[in-house]
Amino acid sequence: MSLLEIQHLSVSYGNIQAVRSIDMALQEGERVCLIGANGAGKTTLLKAIAGMLPITHGSIHFGGHAITRLASYQIVHLGLALVPEGRGIFSRLSVQENLAMGAYIRRDKAAVQHETNEIYQRFPRLGERRNQPAGQLSGGEQQMLAIGRALLSRPRLLLLDEPSMGLAPMMVKTIFETIHDIAKRGVSVLLVEQNARLALATCERGLVMESGALTLQGASATLAQDAAIQKSYFGE
Ligand code: ATP
Repeated sequence: MSLLEIQHLSVSYGNIQAVRSIDMALQEGERVCLIGANGAGKTTLLKAIAGMLPITHGSIHFGGHAITRLASYQIVHLGLALVPEGRGIFSRLSVQENLAMGAYIRRDKAAVQHETNEIYQRFPRLGERRNQPAGQLSGGEQQMLAIGRALLSRPRLLLLDEPSMGLAPMMVKTIFETIHDIAKRGVSVLLVEQNARLALATCERGLVMESGALTLQGASATLAQDAAIQKSYFGE
């Protein structure tokens, strides 16, 4: 069985159907990106997988468990973490307290401390600011914090929603190097990213979403050569 399996998934906001009967699967260790125009339904799909929105129809299985009706904290327990669009950090809490929130499900305090220190080594800016309110961090630092917090839940699958949003090119580079490293350690990744070229370069497989439905999927190398993809999503 695949790590993530989605069948006939539909999600609505009142009478707006944002996700329309989607079928998809993601294998253990795989990196998959989801590209599509604004309003295509990408964020809705990620939130539905993470248990943050009610599902109208269909089913989601993760690691062999039916998670369709589980609450988000139960889904985190099973090893699925979302880094939300806009990062969702707690701005009045310190950097350190935000990271601790990511580890709230864990009892292995020594390992949590060790992994927190690893995050500070990876992102020295966070280490230097560990006692400052997270709201004082720059956009890129907040993105690092959101990724660090998600990693502290020890996910098998990390969902990332637009990690490059609003960041300077150098910061985007740092964030994407981190995504590569996370994947190398065996964590599976489902990435939503406006920068389609970067998304396809980062992931081995891509899905294209239009008006709530998946219209195309394939190997990233193939999609990147596709004239229609280049025209619609590469700004060419
Ligand atoms: P973007 O790239 O702009 O973030 P997206 O592909 O992530 O877009 P969604 O945010 O999932 O798209 O939105 C899909 C559709 O659902 C859009 O038509 C949007 O207007 C609608 N929608 C999203 N959130 C809500 C909400 N809370 N209430 C009502 N409609 C919503």
